[in-house]
Amino acid sequence: MNHQQSSALFTKAKQVIPGGVNSPVRAFKSVGCDPIFIARAAGSKIFDADGNSYIDYVGSWGPMILGHCHPKVVEAIQQTAATGASFGAPTARETQLAEMVCEAYPNIEMVRMVSSGTEATMSAIRLARGYTGRDKILKFDGCYHGHADSLLVKAGSGLATFGVPTSPGVPADFAKHTLTATYNDLDDAKAMVAANPGEIACVILEPIAGNMGCVAPRAGFLEGLRQLCDAEGIVLVIDEVMTGFRVAYGGAQERFGVRGDLVCLGKIIGGGLPVGAFGGKREIMECLSPEGGVYQAGTLSGNPLAMSAGIATLELLKQDGFYDLIEEKSAYLCKGLQEAAAAAKVPTSLQRVGGMFCTYFQAEEVFNFEDVKPETPATFSRFFRTMLDEGINLAPSQYEAGFMSAAHSQEDLDRTIDAASKAFKNL
Ligand SMILES: *Cc1c(COP(=O)(O)O)cnc(C)c1O
Repeated sequence: MNHQQSSALFTKAKQVIPGGVNSPVRAFKSVGCDPIFIARAAGSKIFDADGNSYIDYVGSWGPMILGHCHPKVVEAIQQTAATGASFGAPTARETQLAEMVCEAYPNIEMVRMVSSGTEATMSAIRLARGYTGRDKILKFDGCYHGHADSLLVKAGSGLATFGVPTSPGVPADFAKHTLTATYNDLDDAKAMVAANPGEIACVILEPIAGNMGCVAPRAGFLEGLRQLCDAEGIVLVIDEVMTGFRVAYGGAQERFGVRGDLVCLGKIIGGGLPVGAFGGKREIMECLSPEGGVYQAGTLSGNPLAMSAGIATLELLKQDGFYDLIEEKSAYLCKGLQEAAAAAKVPTSLQRVGGMFCTYFQAEEVFNFEDVKPETPATFSRFFRTMLDEGINLAPSQYEAGFMSAAHSQEDLDRTIDAASKAFKNL
């Protein structure tokens, strides 16, 4: 496959953008090749600057669950653009999307729109601290919650890919307020809470860990955290930026029946435009400025284009059978991948929840970050490069999930399985 144009564009980009990219994992560093530059996309496919096409399982890292350029979403954005891109004043669309969110997540009584997942988690934590009057937070190793200072401690995919557990530039004085525990280990979380009595404002977690691949919560883990938070007056922040509207319309909370006090959303809620949101109990949300004292703001928050894309997307996701379709396609693909790996005698642990999945290149199932063996990512990199060459676009890291869209056809899935058979044999 010819990547001449992408290479030239990358060389140029590196002169003016650090690493040539505006988000580190896009640089393909961990998979040992240069990134492809994208020219356009449609449905299940993306097309690079050299005119190569790929079946896309990145989906902009999750948002494109309808596939790229769904006509209804494109139309909504175009119509709104013609009436003004931004006013910095309230519009009816913000309330409309807020109502849709509250309807999908019964524990969200009030919601505030922001422009990214990072802003959502950062603001939710400030709010939890303001509400409880406590400073410490507890997160889990390998969970990523965006790049705010206090959350860049043992933060999964992006950092893991580059081998830095905690980012330089985060003052030790900030990081010391962030406690970490092992994912899926309730006793570890309990021990952290017991060691810091009355000091923890919130526990924040990915209800399905998608930034260390795809790790489902063990039975009782979410329920146990819910009880622990209730007993200790701790705010439970469920970060559904990836899983919200992905594994069910009501996210992982609908799937597992455990509810957070605060919930963070992003990715799908913006239909491909920059949107995040955080919401929850009225009593907590009313602590936010201008009702309460906890400050939070945004020039472009609730942006008309972004709200329109989000509303158009959610309207389509709400239709009967949408998530059954995603489930079916994902199950078919993963079964095919598993059979292909077995035929090539490649040990894998294929892990999936709904429309998100990960093939770990090791036989042992992954329940937490430590379970990923040191040699596993190198095998993934070889697999990744063959897949790319075969026209299949996967996220360029062992620690990322793959995402199914409604636009993936039976032919796409079969072509992907064929490509994988070849890639497994090539390892
Ligand atoms: C992507 C992601 C974020 C950060 O969202 P951005 O829009 O990239 O800032 C936060 N939490 C989770 C679980 C994510 O997957």
